[in-house]
Amino acid sequence: MNPWADVAARPDITIEFADLPGRIRGFCDHDTRTIWISTRLRQRERNKVLQHELLHMDRGPVFACHQAEEERAVEEATARILIPIDALCDALRWSRDPHDIADALHVPAYLIRIRWDAMKHPAERAAVAAVMADLEDMAVA
Ligand SMILES: [Zn+2]
Repeated sequence: MNPWADVAARPDITIEFADLPGRIRGFCDHDTRTIWISTRLRQRERNKVLQHELLHMDRGPVFACHQAEEERAVEEATARILIPIDALCDALRWSRDPHDIADALHVPAYLIRIRWDAMKHPAERAAVAAVMADLEDMAVA
C-alpha cells in the first residue's frame, strides 16, 4: 500500500525531486530508471504520483497513439493499489463523503472517484454492497 516501501526495496530505481515545468507532477525516464516528482506536491499527491510513475516504470514505454489509454489504465491501477477494497469498505462505514474517505485513506480525493469507477470485479461490488446493506440495517434498527 505504501509506494515508498516498494521503491526502497528497488535500488535500481532512482527518485529525483525537482521543480517540474507547467502542470507536470511527475514522470518516469525508462532509460535511466529515474522517477521525477514535482517538489510542489503535498504528501498525499506525492505518494500517488510515485505509485503512478512506478507503474509506468514496470509497464514500460508505450507508443504515443496508446498514451491516453495507458494513462487511464495506470491511473486506475494506482487507485486500486492505494485504495484496497477492505480499506475502502472500512472507510465507507464511517462516511460516504469522498473527502472523508480520502482523509481516512491518505489519498487525494479525486482518486476515490477513480477507484469507484474502476470497481468492475463482482467480488468488489459485492463487498461494497454488503457494507451498504449493513449500514442500512443499522439505520433501521
Ligand atoms: Zn502517467
